[in-house]
Amino acid sequence: MTGAGLCGSCRHQRRMVSDRGSVFLRCERARTDPAYPKYPPLPVWKCAGYEEAPRAGAERSAEAPGNDSLD
Ligand code: SF4
Repeated sequence: MTGAGLCGSCRHQRRMVSDRGSVFLRCERARTDPAYPKYPPLPVWKCAGYEEAPRAGAERSAEAPGNDSLD
């Protein structure tokens, strides 16, 4: 999500779309840790809880090394 700062690439964010089509980012860390706001004011440039989300396909390759070869 453009303009979200760190939240845009964090594994703990969830993209929410309202009935009117507005897009929000929810912080899933807020479920278990009150130090994190459920809907952080964006953009977030500094966050101790930030963890980069895996890129598409990265987890699959790590779980099954060598499976990307077809020979
Ligand atoms: S942990 Fe921090 S960077 Fe990640 S979604 Fe929550 S507020 Fe954003």
